[in-house]
Amino acid sequence: MQVNLISDTVTVPSNGMLRSMVEAKVGDDVFKQDPSINHLEQRVADMFGMQRGMFFPSGTMSNQVAVGLHTNPGDQLICDIHTHIYHYEGGGAAANWGVSCSLVEGNRGRLTATQVKENINIKSFYHTPKTKLVCVENTCNRAGGTFYSFKDLKEIKSVCDNYGLGYHLDGARLWNALVETDDHARDYGKIFDTISLCFSKGLGCPIGSILLLDSNKYQDALRLRTRLGGNMRQSGYLAACANYALDHHIESLKNDHIKAKELVGLLSTLSIVGRVEPAETNIVIFSLVDQCNQSNFVDFLDKKGIQILSLGKGRLRIVTHRDYTDEQHKYFIAVLKSLDSKQI
Ligand SMILES: *Cc1c(COP(=O)(O)O)cnc(C)c1O
Repeated sequence: MQVNLISDTVTVPSNGMLRSMVEAKVGDDVFKQDPSINHLEQRVADMFGMQRGMFFPSGTMSNQVAVGLHTNPGDQLICDIHTHIYHYEGGGAAANWGVSCSLVEGNRGRLTATQVKENINIKSFYHTPKTKLVCVENTCNRAGGTFYSFKDLKEIKSVCDNYGLGYHLDGARLWNALVETDDHARDYGKIFDTISLCFSKGLGCPIGSILLLDSNKYQDALRLRTRLGGNMRQSGYLAACANYALDHHIESLKNDHIKAKELVGLLSTLSIVGRVEPAETNIVIFSLVDQCNQSNFVDFLDKKGIQILSLGKGRLRIVTHRDYTDEQHKYFIAVLKSLDSKQI
């Protein structure tokens, strides 16, 4: 059996999703003539009570356009040390917009309002960069799929209001947080200036992200997307996937979370495992005890057809997703239970 748990981006389109592509009505989106894109952009904006949506080929590009919208060269943004915008976007904030990141060590990827406040540079002190933007990530990927309480996000919002800062949400996996909490999409739309959401993670689409924003930022965002080469033509085929995923793939994220929690439960009983972080959604991060060799463990699983990811510095990652079936889950559990610690 082959089991791929390196990321929730490894999913392939379901049959229903493929059919939705074949049936999609498309046009040239650069001329705003793609009905499937127009429908998707409006639909997601409405879900969150925001004015406009803009489709992107990747979440990285969508985040980058958001950073570009809120800042000028020389400005600074505030984010947690684990943030995708800082870590995994090829230095884009610096290279694309001349923006530096003030890095804060939050609680497993989560900032508090006090931490944000403490890191805002004083406006009149012209030696320091101007603080312009706060970026939060929900759920936080590198910290292990953790999510914020909405109350904490609202408190950060009031700091942003008091200091005139933009507030961006990297919600690549916000869908996971929404099914795991009682939070409402519309409440998110009320407090953030921009929200980026991915369809290509747990929702199972091959490609696609969306940036939600106010109408008055729309033209600027279009120009920045153009500058990054993100305009596409008959992208309605991709919008059809996203529409299909919104209709059919959100509720089942809960199953991914249940499986992740079961894996945490099992891993914490294994003698080779040192530390397991609690799974809040679909990401499990753990490390082995010092006596065990990490690459032996990864190779052992690989020989059994199971792929997991090493994040470096002794951290291992498992991500559950919609193509990780109940059968695969049973198999993985059986392999872990059969493990002889002397082999590792
Ligand atoms: C995956 C991801 C993105 C965007 O990634 P792309 O691969 O560019 O679509 C952004 N933020 C977070 C937290 C992510 O996990």
